[in-house]
Amino acid sequence: MGLSLRQRVQNELQRLKSDGLYISLKVLEAPQDAVTRVNGKDVVNLASNNYLGFANHPHLKARAKEYLEKWGAGSGAVRTIAGTFTYHQEFEEKLAAFKGTESALVLTAGFTANQGVLGSLLQEADITFSDELNHASIIDGLRLTKAKRVVYRHADAEHLEELLKTNHTEGLKLVVTDGVFSMDGDIAPLDKIVPVARRYNAVVYVDDAHGSGVLGKLGKGTVHHFGFQEDPNVVQVATLSKAWAVVGGYAAGAKELRDILINKARPFLFSTSHPPAVVGALIGALELIQKEPRRIDKLWENTQYFKDELARLGFDTMDSKTPITPVLFGETKAAFEASRMLLERGVFAVGIGFPTVPKGRARIRNIVTAAHTKEMLDKGLEAYGAVGKALQVI
Ligand SMILES: *Cc1c(COP(=O)(O)O)cnc(C)c1O
Repeated sequence: MGLSLRQRVQNELQRLKSDGLYISLKVLEAPQDAVTRVNGKDVVNLASNNYLGFANHPHLKARAKEYLEKWGAGSGAVRTIAGTFTYHQEFEEKLAAFKGTESALVLTAGFTANQGVLGSLLQEADITFSDELNHASIIDGLRLTKAKRVVYRHADAEHLEELLKTNHTEGLKLVVTDGVFSMDGDIAPLDKIVPVARRYNAVVYVDDAHGSGVLGKLGKGTVHHFGFQEDPNVVQVATLSKAWAVVGGYAAGAKELRDILINKARPFLFSTSHPPAVVGALIGALELIQKEPRRIDKLWENTQYFKDELARLGFDTMDSKTPITPVLFGETKAAFEASRMLLERGVFAVGIGFPTVPKGRARIRNIVTAAHTKEMLDKGLEAYGAVGKALQVI
């Protein structure tokens, strides 16, 4: 007699609960915006990735509506069969032009983009060098390949160099890193990583989920921020789900990169393409980024203000250089308690503990957006002040 399904699920849920890893969903009762509603209460929202305030923007909604009316609700097939429309092509051409690359290919989401691109590029004789704090979708993407995996210490180009020196292959060497790290908000030191990779003939793969729309001129991303956008040995992957505020992932680079992905990326080959409204909204996002670059300045002004004021209150905001603003609480329980107390004071910010971050480094991860007003940020800071004192972290 094997285990019943119920026993399996109950055992696993019990294990998650006793390890303090059990997740329950928080439900938003109003659109994704700088102020939203949780538990029937209007709250200042510091929990989203809606960096530019696009998620509920009238221009994106108007474009989505227009494409919905013209093209219908669904796309009806995968891209390689009968699911590539002129609107997909239109967006990919505009995206490549914006990124200054020969081509771009869009996949369902950033998560599947990593699986598709890593899976298409890597073969058995290859070696990958991966930052220890890389995103789960990179880790899973690498696991799906037969390439050897070597992990380097977080953002440590010297350690990377030692490993490149001692791991040899006739195949491809691929250095893989987040552009901006999602939990700490620090920026991958591409100014050190790319030259090291060049010395050992390695290719650099940057997943810029949190850098795109945020870093570089017009938010073109971390690779632009460091000026490596024309290097054919730097592959850019990013998401359209964060600052771009809709959904999707993409790879931007040489024309052959797009060709190989069309032929080999399994999430591209075997999963239905984006529906018209999604692509319409993305076209709207691209238009708005180019028309209103001021939004990115506002994002950085808000970020600086919020970080400075938190530091003045006495909080440890770690080494973040971006709008991702962690506030360190230490023990997981303290971070979760702080989140609960903030919500009582009308501030929505989520606690993050082990195993997403190391033990003793539990935090609340705030993301400041361009849509926050000074009054909203001040309300957040006031709540932080009260909670920090109550929990004796300041
Ligand atoms: C969020 C994130 C992803 C996943 O992107 P989605 O479009 O939400 O699937 C991939 N990589 C990194 C680094 C991320 O932060």
